[in-house]
Amino acid sequence: MHYVARILTPILLLALGACGTRAAPVTAEVPGAITYQLTFESGLRTVEVRADFGTTAPARIRIQDESVVTQAVAQPSGTHLTWADGRATLPPRTIALTYSIDLGRARRRDAQIDTDGILVDPSLLLARPADGPARHLRARVDVPDGHHVAVPWAQTRDGYRIPRSTFQMRGWMAVGTFTPIVCRAGETEIVCAPMGPLRASPEDLARCLRAAAAVALPLAAEHAPRRVLVVLRPTRRSTNAIAFGETLYGGGATLSLLVGANAPGSAFAGEWVTVHEMSHLALPRVRRADAWFSEGLATYYQNVLRSRAEMLKEHEAWAEFVAGAARGRLGAERNRTSLADESAQMGARHAFMRVYWSGAAIALLWDVELRRDHGRTLDDALRHAAAEFPPGGEPVAAARVMARMDAWVGEPLFTRIAEEWLAESAFPDVAPTLAWLGVGDSLNGSAPGAEVRRAISSAIAR
Ligand SMILES: [Zn+2]
Repeated sequence: MHYVARILTPILLLALGACGTRAAPVTAEVPGAITYQLTFESGLRTVEVRADFGTTAPARIRIQDESVVTQAVAQPSGTHLTWADGRATLPPRTIALTYSIDLGRARRRDAQIDTDGILVDPSLLLARPADGPARHLRARVDVPDGHHVAVPWAQTRDGYRIPRSTFQMRGWMAVGTFTPIVCRAGETEIVCAPMGPLRASPEDLARCLRAAAAVALPLAAEHAPRRVLVVLRPTRRSTNAIAFGETLYGGGATLSLLVGANAPGSAFAGEWVTVHEMSHLALPRVRRADAWFSEGLATYYQNVLRSRAEMLKEHEAWAEFVAGAARGRLGAERNRTSLADESAQMGARHAFMRVYWSGAAIALLWDVELRRDHGRTLDDALRHAAAEFPPGGEPVAAARVMARMDAWVGEPLFTRIAEEWLAESAFPDVAPTLAWLGVGDSLNGSAPGAEVRRAISSAIAR
């Protein structure tokens, strides 16, 4: 499989999956499978659901939030289900269950309304076995005329395959009057749902997403997601192209981006948030307390990758690093606790600059030592780690990922550098490394590490 890093012509498709039709109930084809028919009613406030169990219905069923479920009826008996603690018993010989989901009563974390549609966490809609063996789950989605649906799920001949992660982590499906933007970067299909009017054109947005994916996803080599759902949520309050980004993993790789509704298309070219978020989708997932690791790597790569993609000149990328490190250092001086502690408490203390940029500084120290002393790269290490800790997998301790990369390089390089600075209240000392690379007020072409510096900013070697 080869990876196409060059920019492809935008492909804009009008529709994804079934839309505008009322299909007949779908029967399960695989023993032990559940096939869902999800029908969004006009106004997008109600979803009618039919879950077909084939010949092996579970004895008990569970639902995420019983307060939004109405008219739950087992078929063919016509028995109305009674929920207790999100669970209900199915009568014998049940072959299907029908119910309605009232999205108007859903919590904000489960359903959010935008100008041109609604975002729903699919786990809200899907009743599933309360116990018993894992099942194959499939869905068909019908939406009102003039509406479209965008999901992170893999498509099948007549619907979608629903991965187990749908129930383990937060995720979104988008339904609305938007026109999905579909494009490809190498092996990855990007499906984008603009949830309201944007000044930037679909071509500008597709170009931005495709370029970010093309340069970031190779960090996971063949473990990169094959499909990425991107939800664009317009805001009038930001003049930036992208004001905020978030990655979600339920049901598949998903980016939720807060987009400046009035930002011109030109503002999306070389934009950093998309590159940062896209790189998260290619990095091992670590537990929340180890934010220094995941955010540090994404922050290091947001500039490195942009220089590789020629979104930034080499000197601009290093100037971004130097400026970011200064912000991180300021944060460390204000709050003199260890980096490990600050990272574990980031959600409560909001010391984002310190944690992100300290992690980025550690990533630089790793990358330079690997290149200088071992002739290897941080990219190689991460691609190696992706085999055991694939992006989108269960979060693990960063120490486990580092141990794996240490074994790969043959010495505890990752753990040694990280532990030294995680225990410190001071910002990681990158001054000698930057001087060796020739990064100062300008770039020094005759610095001993100038070649390494240029290699970091050059296209990914594969
Ligand atoms: Zn991040």
